[in-house]
Amino acid sequence: MDNGPGKRVIVVGAGIVGASLAYHLAAKGANVTVVEAEGIASGVTGSSFAWLNATHGDPDPIASLRGAALQEYHRLEAQLPGLKIQWSGALSYGASSEGSANRIPQSKISELEPNLRNPPQFASYAAEEGALDAVATTHALIAGAQANGAKVLTQTPVLGFKTQDSSVFGVETAAGVIEADIVVLAAGTGITKLTDLLEVSLPIDASPAIFIRYSSPPNLVRTLISSPEMEVRQTPEGALLAAEDYLDDDLENQPAAIALRTANAIKNELHGVVSLDLQSARVGFRPMPADGIPIIGYLAQVGGVYVCAMHPGVTLAAIVGRLASEEIVGDSASPALNPCRPDRFFKLSDG
Ligand SMILES: Cc1cc2nc3c(=O)[nH]c(=O)nc-3n(C[C@H](O)[C@H](O)[C@H](O)COP(=O)(O)OP(=O)(O)OC[C@H]3O[C@@H](n4cnc5c(N)ncnc54)[C@H](O)[C@@H]3O)c2cc1C
Repeated sequence: MDNGPGKRVIVVGAGIVGASLAYHLAAKGANVTVVEAEGIASGVTGSSFAWLNATHGDPDPIASLRGAALQEYHRLEAQLPGLKIQWSGALSYGASSEGSANRIPQSKISELEPNLRNPPQFASYAAEEGALDAVATTHALIAGAQANGAKVLTQTPVLGFKTQDSSVFGVETAAGVIEADIVVLAAGTGITKLTDLLEVSLPIDASPAIFIRYSSPPNLVRTLISSPEMEVRQTPEGALLAAEDYLDDDLENQPAAIALRTANAIKNELHGVVSLDLQSARVGFRPMPADGIPIIGYLAQVGGVYVCAMHPGVTLAAIVGRLASEEIVGDSASPALNPCRPDRFFKLSDG
């Protein structure tokens, strides 16, 4: 096994998490192969609202990751010309923002969002936050990885593992076996199927949420608004994006029906919306670890396998890509990732 740069690393999954890992690993000199079952950003990354949301109440076991998440995106923006972030700030109000340190009054809210019909008395404003196009960002990261020599195989599901003496030394695909020193599982909700093959059961739920895109008049929303009535932002191209909770499978709660109700809510909340044309509404499945904390690190049960499963994966992709690649290439454990280790689910209880 190669222990320095030049280490052969397979990254399974080309969502934003796998793409960031591939980019950072290849930049450190690893010999990277990305193996993706479908296309780049074809998983939940393609249905993401993609708010770089570093705000969280206490206690937050991953406060140090969240705290560094935004500055890591500023770094990536400088390194990758294809990566563009809307540093618009985020305005939150309603129960979730009560007691926030960044409270602003109604007059300031109206300055920031002149189209709000009923600005609240107070809101929380995170001026440093923003949002990105998760698909374009994933492509930019993959292109950056390829520029550093990474190979990318799409339409190539990983079907199994090659193991010897309780260590993985490669993956099986329909096109044959690919050997590696380390296999990184960044396959989103597909991770559990893969770890089951290794007889390791990781508690990762597929947590549904609804992503909606409308065409809309320009300059409707300037920041990102998160309120009890709506979670919306506008892209530089003018599309209005919304995220909604998934309720259930009833006909009245299908994505198109929710999109219609959300459009009515947006019309009630904003001046200047005569019509919102629905472009798409769909359910995305977020890889949600059972305790809500990312699962990042080597499996203890089998050698050579490193797992990366998380929500919010868009927010954390940049920082996790850097820290995990340092662990994989440099063999030095990052203390910031300690709360995320997979072995927390396998600790033997006392007595
Ligand atoms: C409506 C909605 C709103 C959201 N809003 C936000 C937000 O505001 N901020 C935020 O940070 N996050 C948000 N998220 C969550 C975020 O999108 C995810 O956390 C993130 O995209 C996860 O990325 P990933 O790379 O881990 O997974 P994925 O994008 O699912 O990538 C995994 C890839 O692995 C591939 N794969 C699976 N199995 C195999 C296999 N056996 N072999 C090869 N390849 C395989 C899949 O095809 C897929 O391309 C939102 C999600 C939704 C649905």
